[in-house]
Amino acid sequence: MTRLLVLGGTAEGRALAAGLSTEPDVEVVSSLAGRVREPRLPGGEVRIGGFGGADGLRDWLRDNRIDVVVDATHPFAARITGNAVAATRALGVPLAVLRRAAWTPIPGDRWTEVDSLDDAAAALPELGSRVFLTIGRQGVDRFAGVDAWFLVRAIDPPDGAMPARATLLLDRGPFDVGAEMSLMREHSVEVLVTKNSGGPLTEAKLTAARELGLPVLMVQRPPVPVGVTVTADVAAAADWVRGQTRQ
Ligand code: NAP
Repeated sequence: MTRLLVLGGTAEGRALAAGLSTEPDVEVVSSLAGRVREPRLPGGEVRIGGFGGADGLRDWLRDNRIDVVVDATHPFAARITGNAVAATRALGVPLAVLRRAAWTPIPGDRWTEVDSLDDAAAALPELGSRVFLTIGRQGVDRFAGVDAWFLVRAIDPPDGAMPARATLLLDRGPFDVGAEMSLMREHSVEVLVTKNSGGPLTEAKLTAARELGLPVLMVQRPPVPVGVTVTADVAAAADWVRGQTRQ
């Protein structure tokens, strides 16, 4: 029996846990950070909450006799990925990172790619004064000092400072293109700010911005640490786990 830890918090993490938990020789434990108040839970065993840094994760892996780890966390969750790399290297436990492909611009898109939320905030005033901010709950405070009106959309309310002029919209994808276009029109949005999360669930806003001719400030992903196995989708991650199981 192979014990697999899926570091989750994403649709891919849930799909991987669901797929592998039906296999007779794999025991799946999923881990969530506990950020979202009502998380979508993966099937099978689930634990919730931080491990206490890389050392805490290392100890947890050892105490729970984990043989294999897939880091299926969000592409911007860089700290847990770094911790997973350090903890698995310390124990010699195999690790693969499941990273969905990034979005790429197509003809008609008006993207400005920036390296960080701070760079996005600095670039904003020139691109528009009515901003659709869809970066999730974390990091909204980086925009608190920007002189513009914001439509802030997130699953749960941001915990830091909000921009002085803002409307908060609590909502969770998937979203469709028609509804995204209506929302942007209704609020006279002039620019969209988003992270390059990739994946189909929240992609409609990019199509809507293209259709409306709106500029997009696209925050680039942090890099995956060097030397780590990367799988691009759930099927490839599952195959990788099966390969580890056979070894
Ligand atoms: P992060 O900055 O990389 O991680 C911060 C800390 O949260 C980690 O050091 C760890 O605490 C804990 N943590 C993160 N993911 C965990 C997991 N799956 N299981 C247990 N502990 C976890 O991560 P984040 O950006 O705050 O994201 C938190 C979670 O939300 C992730 O699971 C991610 O998949 C999901 N998520 C993030 C985003 C985003 O834009 N960042 C979007 C959608 C979903 P300890 O050091 O105490 O272990």
